[in-house]
Amino acid sequence: MQEVALLLKKIFGFDSFRPLQAEIIQQIIQKKDSLVLMPTGGGKSVCYQLPAVYLPGTALVISPLVALMKDQVEGLIANGVAAAALNSSIPEEEKLQIRQQALQGKLKLLYLSPEGLLGELNGLLPCLEISLIAVDEAHCISRWGHDFRMEYTQLSVVRERFPGVPVVALTATADKITRLDILEQLRLNNPQVFVSSFDRPNLSLTVHRGLGKKEKLAAILGFIRHRREQSGILYCMKRADTEDLARILATQGIRAAAYHAGLSAEQREQTQNDFIHDRTAVICATIAFGMGIDKSNVRWVIHYNMPGSIENYYQEIGRAGRDGTASDTLLFYSLADLVLLRRFALESGQDAVNLEKLNRMQRYCETDICRRRILLNYFGEETTRDCGNCDVCRNPPQRFDGSILVQKALSAILRTEERIGMQMLIDILRASAREELLRLGYDKLKTYGAGRDLPFRVWKEYLYQMLQLGYIEVDYTQAQTLKVTASGRNVLYGETKALLTTCPEPQETLRPPEKKGKKKTSATPPTTPIRILEANTPEETLMDSLRQLRRRIAQQENKAAYLIFSDATLEDMVHKKPLTREAFADIRGVGEVKLEKYGNVFVALIGHVLKK
Ligand code: ADP
Ligand code: ZN
Repeated sequence: MQEVALLLKKIFGFDSFRPLQAEIIQQIIQKKDSLVLMPTGGGKSVCYQLPAVYLPGTALVISPLVALMKDQVEGLIANGVAAAALNSSIPEEEKLQIRQQALQGKLKLLYLSPEGLLGELNGLLPCLEISLIAVDEAHCISRWGHDFRMEYTQLSVVRERFPGVPVVALTATADKITRLDILEQLRLNNPQVFVSSFDRPNLSLTVHRGLGKKEKLAAILGFIRHRREQSGILYCMKRADTEDLARILATQGIRAAAYHAGLSAEQREQTQNDFIHDRTAVICATIAFGMGIDKSNVRWVIHYNMPGSIENYYQEIGRAGRDGTASDTLLFYSLADLVLLRRFALESGQDAVNLEKLNRMQRYCETDICRRRILLNYFGEETTRDCGNCDVCRNPPQRFDGSILVQKALSAILRTEERIGMQMLIDILRASAREELLRLGYDKLKTYGAGRDLPFRVWKEYLYQMLQLGYIEVDYTQAQTLKVTASGRNVLYGETKALLTTCPEPQETLRPPEKKGKKKTSATPPTTPIRILEANTPEETLMDSLRQLRRRIAQQENKAAYLIFSDATLEDMVHKKPLTREAFADIRGVGEVKLEKYGNVFVALIGHVLKK
């Protein structure tokens, strides 16, 4: 293992293993099967790339997405490891060359799509010395999951065809059904299951509920304004919203683009590339976006609508902060989202499972205990302390006796014979004079205007709390009208008290942005529209210079900036200020090849900036 640890530094430039990496690598080297459950950014790739370099022969890596393979192969080559990919995007001629290289034993890693693997099963593969087989994104095998891929179900063939070759399956999706599905379908041989902590402490978690379209937009603009040069993803349920939002953001000088399955393949690829190369800062996307993206410096993720399950949510927010640097996530949800998602779940053909998943997601949104605890709990991890990095931890709920408020609302619902929805209820309470309300005679009700002292937004918040507390329920079969429950009646008749939580100000739960330079994106585009964050400390100046150099090199080599060095590596340079090659070799993420290639220029730049 000592030899392997040396390789970790030599090739990847890392001083130590992350939790479980060493154990997993050992298992592979001992030719045993394993299943690895590790969150996005946890460091799964090293687990098979390192043994691939260490063991004689070629490692096969099965991966579902072309873009992901390309990124990994480029990253490996940048570190001096011979790797290639065979998939549908590679021209026939090049494929021939790659096969040739593989046959000559020149490749340490060969990436294959599942179709590619099946296609080479009787041709190329039997002629190779295979060191190990890694099945990446292994959850694609499960029909229960969100990324199910038919071709993945045929992968059990590898276990039969290559006895004696260790198989390692890896995924960031950890729920029990998926885990069992993977084990069963791949027919792994007495596998050891490695479950690393799913905690991503660098991601802040914030949820806003019940905001209208305008309020959401204001909140989003405020959020992005503080993070103008940072890469972020805004997830929407509807295609039309992705386009509307991208347009609105663009009018505000934000480099934004829309991405959804309705665009042509070329358009999607272009948009994705612009994002990866930091030419576009914000992508407004449906969930079609992101799976193949390995961009490590995504600094934030916003959900414009609630996702259908905690797995989806966690995977989507997991695209932020893969480099381990602090990143923010923000989720908006409303009753309208819930109604739509319920319908999807009912029509999904697996309504029981999907409704339960939706319920869990809703409970996460509505919780008033630490959100991270709920997430970790969901993934079967026990936690004993609050995280301090979610909105609930930052603004612990303050309770008050809200019985009178609840009584006003319940009484209005009963006086309309439970025929109204949330909008009308608030309008009655706040004495709106809109036409429909007057036509129905609701202005004659005793409760008309009984709650005019509270703004619309606050009433909405309290009604959500009443839903959550079980005083009212939504009749989904009858135009989302509100019904009073038995426990609601208990409050109405004064038998029990209703404890509500004070309604937070809309902006209050957003973490104030850090002013430090390190929170900016890695690269400034050639034509920066607005630059609101100016460097002012020597560290920030150095960071800016490093980023510019990285960008120049990336452009010359036609690669994404983070493939040259990650944000974390630049930060380590700012921290350690290496002025010699030896000192530079010590930087996290600097292996031998990158030391050789970039050491001198970076050391020279650091010396130059510090002298100034
Ligand atoms: P995953 O595939 O699990 O999403 P990656 O393998 O892409 O994660 O790793 C995420 C980030 O962590 C990468 O930037 C990678 O270089 C870094 N990383 C992985 N292992 C280590 C380690 N032992 N020390 C420091 N950084 C690491
Ligand atoms: Zn918390």
